[in-house]
Amino acid sequence: MADMAPRLLLAVPCPTCGAASGRRCLLHSGRLRNEPHVDRKLCAIEAAEGKERPASEAGPPHDQTISR
Ligand SMILES: [Zn+2]
Repeated sequence: MADMAPRLLLAVPCPTCGAASGRRCLLHSGRLRNEPHVDRKLCAIEAAEGKERPASEAGPPHDQTISR
């Protein structure tokens, strides 16, 4: 899988360390992590897919209209 854009990862809050959206993940020591937590990546992927789904399903099934 290709790397996700950092912007997309930061669009969701991190369920692991509790970093708010737009903020980078934190270590237990309070320092910034170089990479976001894995759970945050998964959340970002789910959020991105969730946004795409309604748009694709909202379109009318043009195949049926053409067949008539
Ligand atoms: Zn985190």
